[in-house]
This record gives sequence, C-alpha cells and structure tokens, in this order.
Amino acid sequence: MAEIKLEHIKKTYPNTDIPAVADYNLEIHDKEFMVFVGPSGSGKSTVLRMIAGLEDITDGIFSIDGKIMNDVAPKDREIAMVFQNYALYPHMSVFDNIAYGLKLRKLPKKEINTRVHEAAAVLGIEQYLERKPADLSGGQRQRVAMGRAIVRDAKILLMDEPLSNLDAKLRVQMRAEIAKIHQRMGGTTIYVTHDQTEAMTLADRIVIIDNGDIQQVGTPSELYNQP
Ligand code: ADP
Ligand code: ADP
Repeated sequence: MAEIKLEHIKKTYPNTDIPAVADYNLEIHDKEFMVFVGPSGSGKSTVLRMIAGLEDITDGIFSIDGKIMNDVAPKDREIAMVFQNYALYPHMSVFDNIAYGLKLRKLPKKEINTRVHEAAAVLGIEQYLERKPADLSGGQRQRVAMGRAIVRDAKILLMDEPLSNLDAKLRVQMRAEIAKIHQRMGGTTIYVTHDQTEAMTLADRIVIIDNGDIQQVGTPSELYNQP
C-alpha cells in the first residue's frame, strides 16, 4: 500500500519571501500514476524533493498510509527517485550504478546480481552493464537511472522530468516504457513534467500547478475534454 497525503504543505526556501509551495492539500491513491504539470519554477521539483526527504517541509503534514513522514530519514521512506539529469556516478560501471543502493543496504551479492540483471532486462540495457555512463547515449543513461530506481523495489516512484533531456522521438518511445515500469512496480508513481501531452498520456490523474498553488486536480478527460 502507498496512500500519500499532503495536508497544508508549505515550503519557503531560506532567504526568500515567496513560498515555492504555498498550501498543498492532496491525496494520492495507492497504485495511482499522478502527474504534476506546470511551467518551470512553479514548484514541481520542490514537492517531489519534500516527498523524497531531500528538502525540509516548512509547514504541514506529509503521510504515507497514515504514518507521518515529515521527520523520517530519506533512506527509510521506501521511495525511489529518477532525476532529470540522470545523476549517475561517472566513474562507476552501469552495473555498479544500478547496484549502488543495494550494496549500501548490504544485500547478498547473489541477490544484487539477480536484481540488477532483472532491472537491466526490463529496460533493455543488459548488454551495457560493463560500460561507463560516458559511453552511453542520453536514452541509455536515462534507462540506467530508471534501473537504479526500480531495483530498489520501493513502493513509491518519483520521477522529475525524466524525459526532458531526450529528443522528441525517444521521448514518445520512453513514455510507453515508463507506463510499463509503473505497472510492473505495482506501486504509486508521482511524475513531474511541464509537457501537457506527456501528462495526458501517462496520468491516472493530473495536478495542474502554477506559482506554488494547485489550480486543478482531475483525470486527463476531466481536465482537457470539457464540453
Ligand atoms: P519547478 O520544478 O516547477 O521548475 P521548483 O520547485 O524547482 O520549480 O522551484 C520553485 C520555486 O522555488 C522557484 O521560484 C525556484 O526559483 C525556487 N527555488 C527552488 N530551489 C530553491 C533553492 N534551493 N533556494 C531558493 N529558491 C529555490
Ligand atoms: P538505502 O537502501 O539505504 O536507501 P540508497 O543508496 O538507495 O540506500 O540510498 C541512499 C540515500 O540516497 C537515500 O536517502 C535514498 O533515498 C537516496 N537515493 C539513492 N538513490 C536513489 C534513487 N534512485 N531514488 C531515490 N533516492 C535515492
């Protein structure tokens, strides 16, 4: 289960006056694919980073399945995140990049091996496991970043503009893969994008945000096919 609740969530960065996130109230259901869509600077990354625990919540309550998470360490949140810029370790092989979190958790070598190969197979990057990130295309790098997230078996997957550095053709192709990953993980996905088409293709529900405020929440057809 992964029911996420944001109650009066606020974020004001130090040395700023205007809140990046003003007052969010939102429930994200178990197994839902929720997409936050809004222009650059509207507060999308800030919300994801607060959920991941990479950024303090200034005010409000964030809970998962009824458990208040505000002060829970990131590593104890059962959350995996894919970043726009991939955030891979350049000196490590693809295998070691994917395995990194599992090694920190001291999983048995054999299990790490199995899980990395499974994740790589899902993403079609098995033949690149010995390469370094610099020797991969942008699309392949993003697959490695996704591999690192799915190998963790987290019940919540956060994705911050994962396709925005890719060319248009690859973007469309990777959308289908992201939908597949969501199904396969069987958890809750929160996805951030400024691209409305991407939002409509992927989302169960969409949150439209602007200037740190939630403007609308609904299914793609509720929001975009209004008579
Ligand atoms: P988005 O992901 O929608 O582009 P962000 O969440 O990155 O938006 O940013 C929301 C607002 O918060 C912007 O005005 C941005 O300049 C500001 N902001 C983001 N990170 C910081 C930071 N570390 N310090 C101060 N302001 C920040
Ligand atoms: P652990 O299993 O202890 O979480 P990780 O190396 O996976 O070990 O995580 C270390 C820290 O970095 C944690 O705070 C974790 O949330 C974060 N982290 C590492 N990789 C990812 C990822 N792909 N997505 C989200 N968070 C990550």
